[in-house]
Formats: sequence, structure tokens, C-alpha cells
Amino acid sequence: MTIQTIINKSLRRVELEGKLLTPDFYAEAFCIEASKAGMMVEDCNQVSKLSQLLNKELQKDLTQYRIKTMSELARFLISKLNRMNSTTCSELLESNSNFIKRVLQVVEVLHNREASELARKSIDMLASMPNTSQIDQYRQLWVNFITTYDDSFLQKLKQFADLDTTDLMKTISSIKSAAPSSSSTGGSLDLSKISTLLISSFVPSIASSVNDEIATLSDKIRKNPKLLESASIENEIRSAISLRIALDKKSVKEMVESLDGVLDKLSLRLIDIIESADSSNVEIQKIRKELESYNEGEEVNFASSHKKLYTIAIALEENTKLLSIDLKKHSQEVELLGNKINKLEQELESVRQESKEDFLTKLYNKRALDEFFALKEAEYERYGRNFSIVMFDLDHFKNVNDTYGHEAGDAVLTAFAQILRNEARSVDVVGRYGGEEFIAMLSETDTDGGVIFAEKVRKHVEKARFMYKGARIEVTVSSGVSERKKHVSLKALINSADEYLYKAKKDGRNRVAYK
Ligand code: GH3
Ligand code: MG
Ligand code: MG
Repeated sequence: MTIQTIINKSLRRVELEGKLLTPDFYAEAFCIEASKAGMMVEDCNQVSKLSQLLNKELQKDLTQYRIKTMSELARFLISKLNRMNSTTCSELLESNSNFIKRVLQVVEVLHNREASELARKSIDMLASMPNTSQIDQYRQLWVNFITTYDDSFLQKLKQFADLDTTDLMKTISSIKSAAPSSSSTGGSLDLSKISTLLISSFVPSIASSVNDEIATLSDKIRKNPKLLESASIENEIRSAISLRIALDKKSVKEMVESLDGVLDKLSLRLIDIIESADSSNVEIQKIRKELESYNEGEEVNFASSHKKLYTIAIALEENTKLLSIDLKKHSQEVELLGNKINKLEQELESVRQESKEDFLTKLYNKRALDEFFALKEAEYERYGRNFSIVMFDLDHFKNVNDTYGHEAGDAVLTAFAQILRNEARSVDVVGRYGGEEFIAMLSETDTDGGVIFAEKVRKHVEKARFMYKGARIEVTVSSGVSERKKHVSLKALINSADEYLYKAKKDGRNRVAYK
């Protein structure tokens, strides 16, 4: 088809459509006919190409106003441009601003402290005619808010149940519904835990044994924790708890009663002590009366036992105080007595030292004998008065002690001393020289006289019956005799008598030796 044919068809179309042959109608008809003939005409797509450059709003308007030709497009744009004045811009701005304010007011009441604070500040900022940099600053603050916004707490909630956290209200209602989900599988697991806790709460904490009823219920719940869901179990649990409390109360009561019994005994004992101590202290007498009043069958309970214990404690404290005062007083007395005893002991010791009597035999002791020796020696030297000495020693005396005991030995020594005393004249001096050794100092006597005396004693001892606790003890004595004038000194005299005594022993004992 030639271009001429298309032109002709176009002209006929304008005519047929009853339109005036204007360039626009012609161009419209030409483009239809050209496209029908399959011919691509650049100018025919101009409107749609240009319209794509407009924003969506205007593109919509183009469709709505059926803009098809270039001149229509031009007119449309001109009219738009004519309408676009500064008033429209500020209206738009104002409506934008109102819109933003409204949004901010909404944000302010949402339940996020940080967001509502920022929203309130933003509203204040907008009201103060801000410049662009102030607006920018707030824009940045909002960016900061949303980048640091942390809703991980909602994720944590998800650990407890499968919650919908996209909406706060939904979250809360899903928490509510998740809480007592006893019918789910997880619920029965919780029930088993709760049942264990519940059972342990039935067990008495003070009483030592569990009641049968409690044991049965515990067993029932342990075997089937789901029972806790049934309404009827509530009363059983209530009665088990009451039973448990009753058991504990009973135990406490028994304990308090037994304690009270002990306290009663203690208070009676204390009364005895106070009585026997004959304490005149007013305070302690008051306590005694209070203790006595307890035995008048007061009701046993914790408070009364506590009061008793308190009074007993005070009584004990008072008593201890009195006792310590007493003790102090007595300890002073004891100290005084101790001092006295010490003094007496010292005196006794000095008396003992001065004493001239042998404590066992009551004969002269060594100290006295030494003084007599000095006296005899002085008489011998001044007046030439001769004297002789006899030194006695009991034979095998150790055996006596070993066989019959020390007490028997003492009895023999005492009896021997009596023999000496009997045999001696009044002018003679007899004494215990030590142990089982004795000395006789015979005035105006020579060796022969001394020997006679020694023999008399020896024979007497030999014949005597030394009895101790029904047993007869055989005793003999040996002796040595010497006279003063046969020796150069007193010392030589004593040594000589000692040597003869040794000889008598050596010669067989129970004899008198002399020169
Ligand atoms: P001997 O014949 O050689 O003298 O033998 P003895 O056993 O007598 O001599 P010895 O010197 O071996 O023992 C003396 C004993 O005398 C030992 C001692 O215990 C005892 N004696 C000394 N003084 C006392 C006393 O005061 N009372 C008693 N019961 N025994 C005493
Ligand atoms: Mg001896
Ligand atoms: Mg002897």
C-alpha cells in the first residue's frame, strides 16, 4: 500500500467520523490507517513516549483525559502549568506538615517511651518554625531510633511459649492463653513437677510420721498427676494440709509439754537450792515465789514455758552471783586459814628442831644425846668423872620390817625403848641415836659396869615377847661397850663403841662386845 492510499483512507475516515479536517483529526486518522497498513510512523508514538517521562500521577491524568495527540498533550501540560502556582505549593506543604504532626501525635501515644519522647520533641520542633538543618537533625534522630530499636525482649518471651509478637495486644493475649495450658502435653509435665512439690508440702516438718490419709493421697497424686486438674481433689488437698498442720501442732505441743516437765523439775530443784542457801536476798526471794507459782497447774504452752525458762535463767544468774560472792568470801577465809597453817607448820618445825625427844620412842633424840655427850665430856675433863657408853643395834631389823611391815617395826622399836628405860638408872641417859640404833650413857661407870647393863638389856630383849597383831616377833640386840678414860677423846670413845658393836655383829649377833 502506498502512502497516497493511506492519505486517502485517512481523509475518508475524518469525513466518515463527521470531524472537521483539522491537523489533529487528520494526524489521528493517519496514524490509525498507517498502523492498519502495518506501517511504522515515528510521529504516531510521540505522545506515549513523552507521557512516560511524566510522573505516575500525570500519566494517570493523561489516560483519564484520553490525551492522544501532541496538541492535546501540550494543552494538558499548559493548563497544568497554569494551575501550578505558589499557593498550591504552600497548601501542599501545610497539609504535609499537618499530616506529619498527626503521625507524630499518634507515635507519642504508642507504648514506647523513647519513641513517644522523640515524637513530642519533634512536634515542638515543627511548631517552632524550624530551618532545614533543624529538621534534618530530627530526621537523623529518628534514623538513630529505628536503627537502635531493640525488640529482643519479645524474642525472650518466645522461649516460654509460642507467642505472636508482631502486635503488643496479640502478644499479651497469647501470653494469657499460654499460661495455664494444662491440656497440652507440656502442661501434664508441669503437673508432675507441681505434684511432687505438693506431696512434699503434705509431709509434716516437725512430726516424725505421716498420717495414713496423707500417705494415700500422696500416693494417688504421685501415680496420676493429672488428678490435680479435677475439681474434687481440692478438698482432699485442703484436708491433707490441715492434717499435716494438726500433726505438726501436736508434736510441738508434746515437745513443749516435755520441756515444761523438765523446767518444772529444774525450778523445784532451784527452789531447794535457794531454800538451802538460806538466801535473804529480796530479789531472789521474789524469784523463788515466782518459781513456786509455776507448780500450780498452769496451762502448758510455748509462752508459759518461755516465761518459766526466763525466770529460771534469772534465778540461776542471781544464784550464781550470790554463790560467787560467797565463794569470794570463803576463798578469803581459806586464804587466811592457809596462812595460819603455814605459820603453824613453821612453828612446829622450829619446835621440832628445839625438841629433844624422839617422836616414836619418847627417848632422848640424837640432838639431846649430843648435848649430854658435851656435858659428860665437860664433867670428865673438869672433875675426872668417868662414864661409859653402850651402843645398841637391833639384829636383822630389816627382816622385821620386811616380814611384818613397818608398823610392826615401829612397835618393836617402842617396846625396846621401854626395856632400855626400865633397865637404866635414873642418872643414866638413854636415847635413840638413829634408825634402830640406841645409846646408853652410864655416869660414873666403867666398862665392866657397862657390860653388866648391856647384858641385862640383851637378855631382857631375848626373853621378851614382841607381839604384833597376834604374831610373835623374835628380836635380839647386839651392843658395843667402851669407857671414856680409856680413850683420848669423846670422838675416839664413840668410834670405839661403834667398832665393838660391829664386832658383836660379826661374831654372830645377840651379844655384847668390849675390851
Ligand atoms: P643388822 O643385824 O646387821 O643390824 O641388820 P639390820 O637389818 O638390822 O640392819 P640394817 O642397817 O640393814 O637395817 C636397819 C633397818 O632398820 C632398816 C630400816 O628400815 C629399819 N629402821 C630404821 N628406823 C626405823 C624406824 O623408825 N621404824 C621402823 N619400823 N624401821 C626402822
Ligand atoms: Mg643399824
Ligand atoms: Mg640392826
